[in-house]
Amino acid sequence: MSTTARFDRGHTDDLMAFLMASPSPYHAVATAAARLEKAGFARVRETDAWDGTAGGKYVLRGGAIVAWYVPEDAQPHTPFRIVGAHTDSPNLRVKPLPDTGAFGWRQVAVEIYGGTLLNTWLDRDLGLAGRITLRDGSHRLVNIDRALLRVPQLAVHLDRSANSDGLKLDRQRHMQPVWGLGEPTEGDLLGFVAEEAGVEAADIAGWDLMPHPVERPSYLGRDRELVAGPRMDNLLSVHAATAALAAVAESEGPLPYIPVLAAFDHEENGSQSDTGADGPLLGTVLERSVLSRGGSYEDRARALAGTVCLSSDTGHAVHPNYADRHDPTHHPRPNGGPILKVNVNMRYATDGSGRAAFAAACEKAGVPWQNFVSNNAMPCGTTIGPITAARHGIQTIDIGVAILSMHSARELCGADDPFLLANALVAFLEG
Ligand code: ZN
Repeated sequence: MSTTARFDRGHTDDLMAFLMASPSPYHAVATAAARLEKAGFARVRETDAWDGTAGGKYVLRGGAIVAWYVPEDAQPHTPFRIVGAHTDSPNLRVKPLPDTGAFGWRQVAVEIYGGTLLNTWLDRDLGLAGRITLRDGSHRLVNIDRALLRVPQLAVHLDRSANSDGLKLDRQRHMQPVWGLGEPTEGDLLGFVAEEAGVEAADIAGWDLMPHPVERPSYLGRDRELVAGPRMDNLLSVHAATAALAAVAESEGPLPYIPVLAAFDHEENGSQSDTGADGPLLGTVLERSVLSRGGSYEDRARALAGTVCLSSDTGHAVHPNYADRHDPTHHPRPNGGPILKVNVNMRYATDGSGRAAFAAACEKAGVPWQNFVSNNAMPCGTTIGPITAARHGIQTIDIGVAILSMHSARELCGADDPFLLANALVAFLEG
């Protein structure tokens, strides 16, 4: 059995729209949810009682989403097939008292979120987006998608060693964006945001706001074989997984597994939060899915024992100018298909058995794939894979797409890889 859904370059066009619609994790999950609703998924609330009916369902919590599709003939012990990803990207985030400035410049006080490549945020036109919480506890998404802020770089005349010795940026002193002229006044930024959101400033009781580059994603290269854009780590995976889950749900074929999308927040700083992979969110949802279908603890244990998770996140393509930073024989390339990430010290959760499962899914989908492993002399990154494996006892395989400039404000990947990934995910979810 296999779905007729085959993704192509149209999927990559759609990724660009997804990126633009998702300047914050809160927007990313709302964008994913809207697409799933189009495919017939319905939101369930964690505070409600759940029924065990068949069909597509999803839970939203902050910047995280878990969605799953229960086939008509699913048993309480039917195992899950999960695609895991993360919705957050390294960036700048607005501080609690944001109004600051000096010498006639209005500035916004920001913190640094995650492993941001700081220099890539200089001299970029930035908008402002995120979530505001009103006094009544309700949330509003805000997206001021125009050139509003900028972190201006110091002129080379005033920093003669910037090119010879490398640019040195102080995370506190040098990263505060300007957003106009005038004396900083308390309440200024939030008053402005309130106006843009169409609410009274006095009604805003909390906020989670972050600048984002307003430049559109674009195809790049002689034959437009590359894509440049923001937040591809890891909205590329969230987008592919959302599209794959919707396609599998709509295919109406028999499914031996319950396909699941789990997109978490806070991966870029260790996943420890109520919406992160190191929290109970996924485990609770899977458990409630089993119990609401009349399952027992035994059924839950049986389901999890047969469950497999593909943890999809970006990895490093070989950089032509820095080939020595990569392993000498493993050279993932753009448009070579998804990468299988291996690290024997379990920075990635893949083992030989996982390799076999991933290779089978790619073979079934007719998708090429590549091996990724770090140079032994370089520290290896990690992702939600090992956390998911350890926390839930689920077999997990780390995969993804090889990109350049990871954690830059504007990353670069092959234009075919997003849809090659989506096709592999469909084959995996179908089982
Ligand atoms: Zn990532």
